[in-house]
Amino acid sequence: METLSPERLQELLKASAARHRGHLCPRQVLGVRIGLAGMRALGFAEPPTKKRLLVIAETDGCFVDGLIVATGCTVGHRTLRIEDYGKVAATFVDVRTGRAVRVAPRVDVRQRAMAYGPEGERRRYFIMLHAYQVMPEDELLTVEEVRLRVPVEVIISRPKVRVNCTACGEEVINEREVYINGLPYCRACAWGAYYEPAADRGAQSTVRNPLAAALP
Ligand SMILES: [Zn+2]
Ligand SMILES: [Zn+2]
Repeated sequence: METLSPERLQELLKASAARHRGHLCPRQVLGVRIGLAGMRALGFAEPPTKKRLLVIAETDGCFVDGLIVATGCTVGHRTLRIEDYGKVAATFVDVRTGRAVRVAPRVDVRQRAMAYGPEGERRRYFIMLHAYQVMPEDELLTVEEVRLRVPVEVIISRPKVRVNCTACGEEVINEREVYINGLPYCRACAWGAYYEPAADRGAQSTVRNPLAAALP
């Protein structure tokens, strides 16, 4: 049920815009609405305390500013993660019960929004900006119960654990290490990293894998 007051929404949108050089855009509105809908689906009227809520956003950018103000979840608190699918959607997890809901805009939200634009407005951007604020939740969003394929305990991990990578020696925290033949490695050494030393450019075209010898 819709329990959101227009005043509360405007307050949150203002807070989101403040994180965004004072500029409000349709994706922030979706972030706030999706954040509120996700919390409500899990039975939270307010952002819960004690890191009880985990939000997994499926893109970065403006949308996330809206999620942050609505839920109070942040990367810094380890209550917000980005799983970058390039999609404006998010999953909300009650860490205590493991219950999870995924909230996304309806696939036809842009067509539906046309009926909610301000009088006489023809510019799509401003129609969306307004419509996303006033559309009833079931016109705007889909809310789906989901099951995490990786247990929430594994996603969150135990933050006190730390080991050193067998290959590069760097410290790995939050149980993000990979074990090969019983030895801990960082993911960069085990699987190949998203970067490589600049000096290697041109000199070596294949990805270096220091574990090549150790792998079967
Ligand atoms: Zn923006
Ligand atoms: Zn390493």
